[in-house]
Formats: sequence, structure tokens, C-alpha cells
Amino acid sequence: MGTVLRAEHGKRAGFRESAKDIVRFCGLGGLEEIGRNMSFFEYKDEIVIFDAGLEFAGEENPGVDYIIPNTTYLEQNKHKIRGIVVTHAHYDHIGAIPHIMEKLGNPTIYTTPLAREIIKKRQTDYPNTPPLDIEIVKNRDVIKVSDNFTLEFFNIIHSIPDSISIMLKTPVGNFVYATDVKVEYDAKGVEYGLDEFRRVGEQGIHGLFLESTNAEVPGKSLSSELIMDNIEDIFLKTKGRMVIAMFASMLTRVGEVITLAEKHGKKIAFSGLSMKTNVQIAQNLGYIKIKPGTIIQLADIHKYKDDQIVILSTGAQGESNASLMKIATGENRSFQTRPGDTIMFSSSIIPGNERAVQTLKDSLARQGAHIYHSKNSDIYSSGHATADELKAIIKAVKPKYYVPIHGYYFMRSTNALLAQECGVLKENTIVADNGLVVEFSKTGFQVDFDHQLPAHYVMVDGLGVGDVGEIVMRDRKMLAEEGMVVIVATLDKKTGTVIKSPDIVSRGFIYLKENVNIVEDMRKKIKGILAQMPAHKEVEMDYLKGLIRDQIGQFLYTKTKRRPMILPVIIYV
Ligand SMILES: [Zn+2]
Repeated sequence: MGTVLRAEHGKRAGFRESAKDIVRFCGLGGLEEIGRNMSFFEYKDEIVIFDAGLEFAGEENPGVDYIIPNTTYLEQNKHKIRGIVVTHAHYDHIGAIPHIMEKLGNPTIYTTPLAREIIKKRQTDYPNTPPLDIEIVKNRDVIKVSDNFTLEFFNIIHSIPDSISIMLKTPVGNFVYATDVKVEYDAKGVEYGLDEFRRVGEQGIHGLFLESTNAEVPGKSLSSELIMDNIEDIFLKTKGRMVIAMFASMLTRVGEVITLAEKHGKKIAFSGLSMKTNVQIAQNLGYIKIKPGTIIQLADIHKYKDDQIVILSTGAQGESNASLMKIATGENRSFQTRPGDTIMFSSSIIPGNERAVQTLKDSLARQGAHIYHSKNSDIYSSGHATADELKAIIKAVKPKYYVPIHGYYFMRSTNALLAQECGVLKENTIVADNGLVVEFSKTGFQVDFDHQLPAHYVMVDGLGVGDVGEIVMRDRKMLAEEGMVVIVATLDKKTGTVIKSPDIVSRGFIYLKENVNIVEDMRKKIKGILAQMPAHKEVEMDYLKGLIRDQIGQFLYTKTKRRPMILPVIIYV
């Protein structure tokens, strides 16, 4: 984790005012990455938290399920916590909840009905966690959560219904916290989704915190109307069965596709459990309206004509265990691809998934499917504001200070430049990394470089939270990249002499049977090390193991230029 805050983006000679009248802001996750979003504001002995998300672990963290924010500071100050605001139901904003709530003293969660239901659904996977206290909020609700913090919620547009942003009123000023938000356009290009931002902007905004995910994407995104028109064109052209693959979390688009299917007399079947449960939750709350008879079971599709069938599937990222991959590999019992089928990827490819998606498309194409994806047709737009949309929001809010959140450093610094184009003073844009505390007074701000809070990764691996640290990770990488060699030496307890030739076993290093010379040399070397030990004396075990590890490691590196993990096992008999 770096601690970079570039001078050109707002490092400023610190104000020296009474320490009492200061609002402190800190991002614990989401500021040097995409995911595990979590921030908090603190004023005197009051803290209010925004979101508690997860980040899926990349290849650099082998075996880890996901990563969550580091909540050490909040745990130490849990008596100050007055609530957690959850902006919407995506996992990068709610995913850490089952792992942290107890440690934080189970504070009240303020969120919308859809997010509440999805949080509750996920909580059932963690039966040993205490029941959550969730308070529902809706557009323009004003809740005073403590003496000095008042939250005003307002609706914004994102790729899932029921997303909110917040105006946080404090003694220092009003702050707007807007994450995962976009501006929409109708077919004529008229924008909407900005009225609430203008309304709060009129109240005078001290600081705006705004996401950076698509800050590097110029212009504005495609309008949903245009995308739905294009999907409808494909519906009209398609004579066979159709599979539409997308994230189950893009519930707004899922709802639109269902409505479009109904318009064309088609039936919908779900493939993928998360798609089914998410739609059910959204339908129960009235966010997705479905006519009776539209939804059919996947197992029943043979009862309908081919051009009536639309299958909504998860797995557009080529995930190996998701539904679309099972269709491609023929593992899905109810649906096998055949010539005449159309597969639509209404998604972008998350960096890192390119190969998996390519394999998936190849496999489906070999089986005769016709494939549409976001590169050959305009059938996808992201839920995150592009450069022009971010600028429209900044102009509507008119903040004095601007803090880009959510994204890698370059995304955030690009976002800061957008604010400057909108009239925010250069010295008032703040690009601060995870764990850095930004202190706001009524007249200025400073970044407290002396008090960086713990913000490093907390890994969730199976049932373990935080118990996989750097050493375990280093071992996993070593094993994955260089393999391992186990050396078993048996010594006489009384004399300390080697009883038999050491056993050598390797996995993922080199094939020993084809490298007898190396094995023989290794044996000789081990015997040599052991012979140097003082006779008639039990040698300190760790010392001996260290010696073998170092010397054999060096020997193998000279011979092979590889560094396998070496596990010496010493047995005294
Ligand atoms: Zn989101």
C-alpha cells in the first residue's frame, strides 16, 4: 500500500485550527483497487461508515476466496460507531458484512429494501453470525444518527435498482458521498439522474466523494434505450433459441430484458442460481414485474417452440463453475447448444478474464451458436459514470473540495482532473490512498501523513478470515511456481549418525526419476551436512533443518536455476 498523495493534486500546507472542529475521512478499501469499498467519517467521538465490500482475489493471491477491508481501527473505536450506510446491493459494497459486523459491535445498517433483502439472503450462508439490525431508508429520508452527523439519502441511477447516495451533514459542512452512480440519457440524448444532485448541491456542499471506475472512459455511455433497441433487433432477427448471459447483479437490465421478452411473446428460463434468487428478491419487492406464465423451468424448454425460448444465464465472464460454461461443455442437462442458437453476452470483460471468455466463445461457436457480444454490437453499458457523466455530477453538486474514490490511483487522478475542468480548484482536489486520513475544517483540509490507519488486505479463505497472511501467500506462490522437495533424514538418537540414505520426494519441481544425478548429488550433500554435526549429541532441530534448507536450496539453484520449497524432515530413532 503506497502513501502517495501528489502535490499537484492537493497536498497543502496544513491548516492549524482547533483540532476539535474537524471531520476526518478515511478510505479503508477501494482507493487503490476496484472492490472492497469501505470508508468512514469521524467527528469527535462519532463515526459513520459507508459500505463494507469484498474484492475477488486475483491470481496473485492463489487459493484466496476474496479480500475484505481492514477494520482494525474501527474495531478499536467501535464505541464511536453510530451506523453503517450501505449504498446498494453489490458484493463490492456488502460482501464484508458477515465477517465484520460482530467485531464492530453490530451497529445499525442503513440501506434500501433491495439491499436489505440481498444482505439477509447472503447472511443465511453464515448461520453463526448475530442477527443484523437493518433500518430501511428511502429517497429524501433524513436521519440524525448522532449529535453531529445527519444523513440525507437520495436516489441515484446504477445498474441495480434501489441505489442511493448520501449527503452527510456535519458541523464542518455538508459532504456528498456518491459511489456507483451513472447518468442516463433517453434516445434523444436528454440526460436524467441529475436532479437530486442539483437539489443537494443547492444546499452548499463542502466536499464531494465520487467514484472513479470509468473516469478514464471519455464521453458518455450508451443510453439504456439504445441498448434495449439493439437487443430488440436481435430478438426480431433470431429464429432459434436465445441465451442472454449477464451478471445476476445487473438487475435493472435483467428486468428490462424480461419485459422485452414478454412483448415478443417469449418465455424466460433461468440458468444459474444467483440469477434465479436475485430476480425473485427483486420481483417480491416490485422492482421487476413479471406476468404470470412468463417464467418457465429450464427443464421444460422442449415444450416450447425454439423462437419462444430466452434463457437468462450467469457466467458471462467465463467463470469455470458458472452456468454458461456448463452449457458450453455440455454439462447442463436441460440445454445443449446446437446450430441455430443465439448467445448474447450483455457484459464487458473484466480484465483478467479475457482468455476464459475466449475459450467459452470458441466452444459455443464450434457447436454452431451465433454469438453477439459488446464488441460486435451495442448491447452493454456499464453502471458507472464515464468522464462526461462524472463532470455533469460535479457541476450539479458544485463542491468546494473533491475526493475521487473507488479505483486505482490513475483512475482517481484522472477523476481529479475532471473536477478541475468543472471549476474545482486544483489545490482542492484530494487523491488519498487507503488508510490515509483527510481532515476537513470549515476553511481547509490537510492530509495527516503521520497517522496512516491499517488498510492492508484481510484475506478470506474458506472459513478463515485474516489468518492467511504474507507468509502463507509466499509459500503458496513458491509452491505454485517452483514446486517442492521433501527430504527425510533418519538419525540415530544416541550417536547422531545417519541410519539410512535420506529419502527425497518432489512435487512440481523436476521429475526425479529422470534426474538421478541430481538426486544422488543431493543425497551426498545431505549426508555431508549431517556428518559435520557433533557426534553423540542431539542437534537443535530447527538449526539443522535451516542448514539443509539453505545448502540444498543453493545447490538446486546452481543446478537448475529454480527455487523449490524445501521441507526437511528429521527423524531420530
Ligand atoms: Zn455497484
